[in-house]
Amino acid sequence: MVVRHWIETIKRKDAWLKIAEYYLPHGPICPDCGQPVQSKKALDDYYAAKRVWCHVCKRQFNPLIGTPIADTSWKPEEFVHLVLLSMPHYSPAEIAQCLGKSLWAVREMLAKLGNYEPQGGPR
Ligand SMILES: [Zn+2]
Repeated sequence: MVVRHWIETIKRKDAWLKIAEYYLPHGPICPDCGQPVQSKKALDDYYAAKRVWCHVCKRQFNPLIGTPIADTSWKPEEFVHLVLLSMPHYSPAEIAQCLGKSLWAVREMLAKLGNYEPQGGPR
């Protein structure tokens, strides 16, 4: 499997939503005044990982603050790529549990993948 081919399916917005969900579990909150972001425009900006205008304290904040990619040049999707590429290999049982599939189904699909290796096998 050429990993590079498949990780491109991870899009920026989805990557950012998962990063925010993991590192900012309390949701969109202004780091200056601690108030939740509520206006539609501000929420749209937050979920697009753009600077957010807080209507309470009238200041802008960077929604990435509190995540590993704050104050870096890393894009959300690049961070998720890094996480996935740095993961150890999972056992078929762990994959089955993660995907909600039976161990049998996972083993069958892994065997199929082994039979359809394009361009010279796994990476
Ligand atoms: Zn504020």
